Amino acid sequence: MPPVRSFLTRLTRPTIASRRDLVRYVVFVTVFSLVVALAIDITQQLLFFSTWTTALRSWAVTVVAVTVIATPVATMFARAQWELQRAKDALEDLSRTDPLTGLPNRRALMEASEAPTSRTMVLVIADIDRFKAVNDTYGHRAGDAVLRAVGRIMTQRLASHGLVGRLGGEEFALISSNASLDQIIPALRDLLRAIETTPFVTPGGAVRITMSAGVAIRDQSEPFERLYSEADEALYLAKRSGRNRIELSARAREALPADQQADHPSMA
Ligand code: GH3
Ligand code: MG
Ligand code: MG
Repeated sequence: MPPVRSFLTRLTRPTIASRRDLVRYVVFVTVFSLVVALAIDITQQLLFFSTWTTALRSWAVTVVAVTVIATPVATMFARAQWELQRAKDALEDLSRTDPLTGLPNRRALMEASEAPTSRTMVLVIADIDRFKAVNDTYGHRAGDAVLRAVGRIMTQRLASHGLVGRLGGEEFALISSNASLDQIIPALRDLLRAIETTPFVTPGGAVRITMSAGVAIRDQSEPFERLYSEADEALYLAKRSGRNRIELSARAREALPADQQADHPSMA
C-alpha cells in the first residue's frame, strides 16, 4: 500500500483489537493533530509576527486546545472501533460453531480442509447408526443429548489428532494433517468401542448407540471434494457391511502399515 494511503487508513479506519492498539491510536491522532495545528499556527505567527510573547502564547493555546479536543474524541472513536472489532470476532466465532454441540461446524471444517498444508490429510466421517430410531423411541431431546455427548467423547479422544467437528445431523468429522493413519485408526477403533459400551444418560432414559466411520486420505495437491467423497463412500460401505465399524477408502487401505491391515475389515 502506498505510504499516503496507508497513513490515511491508519487514521480513518484503524483496526483496534486491544488496549494497546487503543492507546497507540489516541497518541497517533493527538500527535498528528498537534503537528498540523502547530504548523499552521507557527506559519501564521511568523508571517504576521508582532512579539515573541504573543507568538508563544498563541502556540501554548494551540497545544492545549488541540490536546483537549483530539485526545477525548480519538479515545471515543477508538473505543467504538474496538467494540465493533469484538462484535465482528464474536460473530465470526458464532458462524463457525455448531450451536447444539459447541463443536466447529461444517464451515469451520471446510475452511480447515482448505488451509495450505505440506502433509497428507486424513478425513474421518463418523455417523451414528440408526439415529432416527433414537429420536423415535426416546424423543428429540434425548437425541440432542446423545449428539452433545458424542461430540464431547469424540473431542476427548480424537482432538489431539486434528480438528473434530459436526458436519450436520448425526454426522461428525475429524480432519487431520498432523497425524498418520496408524495413529488415527487405533484411536478411532477405541472411540467406537467406548461409544458402543457407554449408555448415554438422557431426559428420555439411558440410550445405547453405535457409530460407523469412513476414512480417506489425500495428497496435498488434490481437491477436498475427492477426499470427502472417498470418506463418504467408505462410510456407506461401513453401513452396508453391518454398521458399528470402520471402513477405509482404497487409498487409505494402501497407506496403512501392514501390521494394521491384518485387522481390517473387522475394524471395530
Ligand atoms: P444410518 O444408520 O443409516 O445412519 O441411519 P440413521 O437413522 O442414523 O440415518 P437417517 O439419515 O435415516 O436419520 C438421521 C436422523 O438424525 C434423522 C434426524 O431426525 C436426526 N437428526 C438430525 N439432526 C438432528 C438434531 O440436531 N437433533 C436430533 N435429535 N436429531 C437429529
Ligand atoms: Mg446415521
Ligand atoms: Mg447420516
